[in-house]
Amino acid sequence: MTGDLLAVEAAQATVLAGVTPLDASESLDPEAALGRVLAAPVTAAVSLPPWNNSAMDGFAVRAADVEAATEGEPVRLTVVGESRAGAAPDARVLPETAMRIATGAPVPPGADAVVPVEETTPLDEHGVTGPRGRQVIGPVPAATLVHTRVKPGNAIRSLGSDVRDGDAIAKPGDLVTPAVVALAAGAGVSAVSVRRRPVVAVLTTGDEVRAPGTDLGPAGIPDANGPGLRSLVRDAGATPLDLGIATDRLEDVEARLRRGLAEADVVVVSGGVSVGPYDVVRLAFDNVGHMNLWRVAVQPGKPFAFGRADVDGREAPVLLFGLPGNPVSAFVTFELFVRPVLRRLAGHTRLHRPADRAVLEQPVTKSVGRRGYQRVTAVRDAAGLPIRDGSGRVRVRLAGGQGSHMLSALAAADALAVIPEAVETAEAGDEVEIRWLDRG
Ligand code: AMP
Ligand code: MG
Repeated sequence: MTGDLLAVEAAQATVLAGVTPLDASESLDPEAALGRVLAAPVTAAVSLPPWNNSAMDGFAVRAADVEAATEGEPVRLTVVGESRAGAAPDARVLPETAMRIATGAPVPPGADAVVPVEETTPLDEHGVTGPRGRQVIGPVPAATLVHTRVKPGNAIRSLGSDVRDGDAIAKPGDLVTPAVVALAAGAGVSAVSVRRRPVVAVLTTGDEVRAPGTDLGPAGIPDANGPGLRSLVRDAGATPLDLGIATDRLEDVEARLRRGLAEADVVVVSGGVSVGPYDVVRLAFDNVGHMNLWRVAVQPGKPFAFGRADVDGREAPVLLFGLPGNPVSAFVTFELFVRPVLRRLAGHTRLHRPADRAVLEQPVTKSVGRRGYQRVTAVRDAAGLPIRDGSGRVRVRLAGGQGSHMLSALAAADALAVIPEAVETAEAGDEVEIRWLDRG
């Protein structure tokens, strides 16, 4: 505890306690599974490569035939045909013969090595030599001079040297990355089993909050949190469910919450979580389930509420998050407490954003006793790479005003700078930890 506030790690441990990956899975085409987490091993349906093929343009030979070849005394081989990509070879390589071969074409029977074209000189039917090392297109030459010896297997990619038919090529818990999509597709796999996405209901509360496009009247504000939180949900790999905008009345909040309990794995509520007369969210959580914690030592982000609700017929309780109404606070508490839970439900093993070391270019002031998450921007070079100092540290500047209502700085930020609880002012030049926000 930090005073009567709960430390960030303790709050993270509470929200993650008992959370396990969702059991349900679905079978998808590898490409459609991008970004999902595997629920079952992926098994290669074909070997890779499926047959021996050439790694270079050149001539398929028998290595024994060219053992004596040197630059000055090349070996002459009769060219008996050609192996092209996409076609089965129509000849075999007998002693003292060769076949022209293209990269990726099947190695013909009889050949055990490929001589790169650069090490050969073509000969026409009259024995006239062509240009050294360039006979890869046009008519197949009658013969070729080979200027170097090669070992058996030279420039051949052998059957199964990457993946063997029946091999487990990815395991449960692995993220389906673009490379995993390519591996599965390349190994002839047409469907992979992935965990289903968590469903996350998002409820906005506040008598002053208006749907986008609605007249604001004298005291209304447009709803930033509904669209923002649903986008964070999607960005975390989950599926949002829109519970709309509730008034600050317990019955309204509770009725919408109950719809969330019936249809979602997690419910995220924005606003109404403090101790004001119209802050009914904690009461509503208690009515549908039970509160597990609130009051975390984080800035921005106090107040924050977390509860669980048991639902008949569901194996796991529905998790209830009450986030502050201030949009930046809602965003930061989502990052710290909701996103790791959604990641675990989805099956990910990496729950948190990547950390890095940075140096502040400006002083930062915050409340003592709460951990600060300042919205910062890394100083970058012309190509967009963060500039690092001699110790590998990124330089960061404040992304703008740090008020918990200031969305412009949040939108400009590419990281959160973590300022320890005990610090009131971090000076320019101080080293801080940053958490990168995903900005591609
Ligand atoms: P609350 O947590 O309900 O006390 O709200 C704190 C502040 O956040 C108030 O200034 C609200 O008007 C504002 N706020 C609450 N919900 C939203 C929302 N969905 N979009 C933008 N601002 C909001
Ligand atoms: Mg409110």
